[in-house]
Amino acid sequence: MFENLSERLERSFKILKGQGSITELNVAETLKDVRRALLDADVNYNVAKRFTDDVKKKAIGRNVLTAVKPNELMVKIVRDELAELMGGTAAEFKIDGNPAVILMSGLQGSGKTTFSAKLANLLKSKNGKKPMMVACDVYRPAAIEQLKVLANQLGVPVYSEEGSKDPVSIAKHAINEAKNQGCDVVIVDTAGRLAIDEEMMTEIAAIKKAINPTETLFVVDSMTGQDAVNTAKEFNERLDFDGVVLTKLDGDTRGGAALSIRKVVDKPIKFVGTGEKVDALDLFHPDRMADRILG
Ligand code: GDP
Repeated sequence: MFENLSERLERSFKILKGQGSITELNVAETLKDVRRALLDADVNYNVAKRFTDDVKKKAIGRNVLTAVKPNELMVKIVRDELAELMGGTAAEFKIDGNPAVILMSGLQGSGKTTFSAKLANLLKSKNGKKPMMVACDVYRPAAIEQLKVLANQLGVPVYSEEGSKDPVSIAKHAINEAKNQGCDVVIVDTAGRLAIDEEMMTEIAAIKKAINPTETLFVVDSMTGQDAVNTAKEFNERLDFDGVVLTKLDGDTRGGAALSIRKVVDKPIKFVGTGEKVDALDLFHPDRMADRILG
């Protein structure tokens, strides 16, 4: 991931090599290159523009105050700004509550069911929690089956209601059942659609209202680039979610969604999925991601 962007940024910093200081002129050329690299990585246009404007201000301001070489100074400024762009520091993920309720939202195929299992695994193995998974996809029996298979592998209970067409009541019943079984986290997997539609939005909003989740997460396939950002915007307008899960980062060579979502939606990325296996899950650390981009 980010291979191209890393290489392109490195090349743009070389323009400053051998220069005595950062000037309006040489920084302009570098920043044009940086902006092009970001756009080619499918970063949102406004985000890329604001980013280079901010870097320019910092570079010119810091220039006279330091003995660091211009290209090295630029690497540092861009690194810090990339981290800032992605949210600065890692966001909190709340799992307190009796039980804590985590609601998944997102399009079909984005990775909600896979992430639900990854999260259950993480909370069980690392946090000593007793999670329950809930199948609220009343349209696709295969989705319920998939959740059951994953949960069985993890030794985590699943709540589902055969034949029910009412995801709101399934979710509510599940929370009661979790209390009965002594489960302290309820992970509610919901139905998606291939594209945004009103019925799905109304349904997920109704579930959210009924169960008042501790965290509502929006799950999105990072490989869809700008579409991921636009979908995030629409879900956020309806759901006011708490955080983003970026999946399939292992296949995302460009990184545009990872770099744009935070600024466009103003909600933190909390987790990233890096593979199909149940342990291929990372907490999102903006500063580590920035280090990775700059190699
Ligand atoms: P849902 O419809 O939103 O529940 O999506 P699924 O959880 O069924 O995932 C759709 C496909 O994406 C499945 O084939 C998953 O194995 C795959 N998938 C999910 N997350 C990741 C990830 O982080 N990396 C990769 N490579 N594949 C993923």
